[in-house]
Amino acid sequence: MPEKTTKWIIVTGGVISTLGKGIVAGSLGALLKMRGYKVTAVKIDPYINVDAGTMRPTEHGEVFVTFDGGETDQDIGNYERFLDENIPKNHNITTGQVYLEVIKRERNLEYDGKCVEVIPHIPLEVQRRLRKAADDTQADYVIVEIGGTIGDYQNVLFLEAVRTMRLKGEPMIFAHVTYLPIPRTAGEMKSKPAQHSLRALNANGIQADFVIARSDEPIDEVRKEKISVFGNVKKEHVISCQDLESIYDVPLLLQEQKFDELVVNSFHESPKPLGKKFSDWKALAAKSRNGGKEVKIGVIGKYFNSGDFTLEDSYISVIEAIKHAAYNNDVKPVIQWINSLEYEKSPEKLEGLKEYDALIIPGGFGKTGVEGKISAIKYAREENIPFLGLCYGLQLAVIEHARNVINIKDANSAEIDMSSDDLVIDVLPEQKKNLEAKNYGASMRLGNYEAVLKKGTRTFNLYGEEKIFERHRHRYEVNPEYKEKLEKKGLVFSGLSPEGKLVEFIERSDHPFFIATQAHPEFTSRPLNPNPLFDGLVKAALKK
Ligand code: GLN
Repeated sequence: MPEKTTKWIIVTGGVISTLGKGIVAGSLGALLKMRGYKVTAVKIDPYINVDAGTMRPTEHGEVFVTFDGGETDQDIGNYERFLDENIPKNHNITTGQVYLEVIKRERNLEYDGKCVEVIPHIPLEVQRRLRKAADDTQADYVIVEIGGTIGDYQNVLFLEAVRTMRLKGEPMIFAHVTYLPIPRTAGEMKSKPAQHSLRALNANGIQADFVIARSDEPIDEVRKEKISVFGNVKKEHVISCQDLESIYDVPLLLQEQKFDELVVNSFHESPKPLGKKFSDWKALAAKSRNGGKEVKIGVIGKYFNSGDFTLEDSYISVIEAIKHAAYNNDVKPVIQWINSLEYEKSPEKLEGLKEYDALIIPGGFGKTGVEGKISAIKYAREENIPFLGLCYGLQLAVIEHARNVINIKDANSAEIDMSSDDLVIDVLPEQKKNLEAKNYGASMRLGNYEAVLKKGTRTFNLYGEEKIFERHRHRYEVNPEYKEKLEKKGLVFSGLSPEGKLVEFIERSDHPFFIATQAHPEFTSRPLNPNPLFDGLVKAALKK
C-alpha cells in the first residue's frame, strides 16, 4: 500500500489535570471525521504500568477494553465514542510499554553493541509506535493526546519524540489545552497560569499552534489577546471551551469558532464540507440538553471511595451507554449510585429499590459487596424491576437464581468462596494457570468474542441477529456442569459461545426485563448508535 501522508495533531495539557483534553481532542476528531477525513487517535500515558488493566478503577478510572483485547485508558473510550471508530490497543502507549520493548531489544542484541540510552532510544521507540499506528490505520489525521500536564517530569520524553518528528518534516501541529481559573477572591478570569504553561511548552522546544482555553466561562477578547501575544499564537487560534452542561455540545462549540477548519488550513489545505452526520450530532446534542421524561436508573457498584478519580470515572462507559439509550428514547436519564455494602449492613434498605425504573449491576472483582449485590438482584427479580447485569452482574444473577430459585443454598463463585460445594461460577480452564502463576497482566479473557443468540429470546430480539460480538474481560464463567440444573424455573441461557460451551447471555422468562451478559456491552455503545441491551433496558424502564 502506498504510504499516506499522515497529518499529526498533538494535544498537550497545561496548568491542571482532568481538564477534559480527551473530550476536546475527541470533539475535534469528530468534526474532522464529519468532514469526510479518516481520523484516529492515540493516547500516551506516562505511567510505568504496561497497561491500565492492573490499576484499580478508584485509582485511575475505568479500564476500557478494546475490540482486540487491550485494557486501556478510559480516554480510548472517549475517542471511540466521539470518533465512532474502533481504536486498536496499540493506540494506547505507556512509558512501561516503551521501556519494556527497548530493554527486550537490548537483551536480544538488536542494538549492534551500541550503548542504549534514554535519549535517543526511548523517543525513537515512541516514534516507531506512533508511525505504526498511523500506517496501520492509514488515517488522514492522527490525534495524539499526551497525558499529564506540561511541566510534569514524566512526559518530557514523549514531547521530545514528537518535537523531533516535526523537525524531521512530519506535518504536525500542536494544540495546547489549558486552564484559566476564576479565583473567588479575584472575581475575574486569570490568564497568567495559561501563559506560564505555554512557556513551559516552549522550554521543551514546542510552540503551540492552537490554545484551547478551558474555564468556567467563555474567554473574552482581552484575555484572548493576552494569550495570543504572550503565547505567540494567532488570536483566532485561541479557542474558548467553557464548561458546558453536556459533553456532546463540545464539538458544536468548537465548530462555532471554526476550530476544525482552522486546523485543516494549518496544513495548507481547504476543508471538505461538513456532512450529514453533523446535523445528526446537533440533534443528539439538543437531546442531551433537553429535559424530557425522567427515567431513574440505579447502578449498584462498589468502586466509590476514590482518590483523584470520581466514581463517574470508574463506570464511565456504563454511564455513557445509559445516556445514549436515553437520548435515543427521548428521555432524561437520572443515574444514581448505590453502594451494595449498604444492603449488607441494613437489608431493610432494599425496599428503597422500588423507586427505580431500572437497575444495573456493572462489572466488578473480588468479594467486597457481592452479598449486597445478590440481595439487590433478588429484589429486582421478585419485584419485577427491569434489570441488566454486566459481567460480574451475570455471574451474581446466576448465583442468586441457584440459591433462591433452584435451592442450591451454598451456590457461589470460585472468586468469592473456593470452599463452597457448589461453584456454579468457576474459573475458566485456561485461566487456572494464570492465577497459579500470578500472571495477572493482560491475561483475562479479553476483547471481542462471538456469541450465538437463541432465536425467540428477548436477547435475540434486541440484537436482531443470531451471531453477535461483544467485548469481554473476565476470568470466571458459568460452570458448564451446572448448566442443565440451572436452566429452568424462569432462567434461560439466551446466548452461548459458538461451540455452545460458555454462557454469554441469560434472561428470565418470568420477568418483564431481566437480562445479563458475560460481556461488557457498554464498550460498544456509541452516541448515535446505542447498544441494544441498554436501549432495551431504557424502553423497559419507561414501561414500568
Ligand atoms: N470478577 C469476574 C471475573 O473475573 C467478573 C469480571 C468483570 O465484571 N469484568 O470473571
